[in-house]
Amino acid sequence: MNLLLSTDYADLPHDQWPEITTRQESKDRGWKFYFTGKPCKYGHMTFRYVAVPNCQICNNYYNEQYRKTDLYKRKALIRGRKHEATEKRKKYHLDPKTKAMKNRASKKFRDTEKGAKSRIGEYWRRIHGVDLPESLLDAMYAQLLVKRELKKLRN
Ligand SMILES: [Zn+2]
Repeated sequence: MNLLLSTDYADLPHDQWPEITTRQESKDRGWKFYFTGKPCKYGHMTFRYVAVPNCQICNNYYNEQYRKTDLYKRKALIRGRKHEATEKRKKYHLDPKTKAMKNRASKKFRDTEKGAKSRIGEYWRRIHGVDLPESLLDAMYAQLLVKRELKKLRN
């Protein structure tokens, strides 16, 4: 369908009119617009939306009026603030300083008992598909500590 949006087809010769369809026909073809060849109740000879019953010129007018309302302005303000917050969050996570901080935190966590056990558990889950019980994790962690101590003695 050839779309000339915001055009009043009343001014154009009929051979330049788009194909006349019903709302259902356009809907069946997956089009967002339909053209009846008849003016809307305010006299606009243009496309109508399949989704809403308004003609395109009327709809533009309604949208314009809606944008002037306090409700729209409040919503726009909220959208703006949400957008700002999202951008701020994105920036924070992409900041090399944040990455360095996360790395430090994860290294620190690895050295704790909880961190070490979680890594051992993860490894067994990934490689062997086994969920180790807490008692085995304790034993393996103890083993790890023994290895570390032995390494220190050897050095
Ligand atoms: Zn209209």
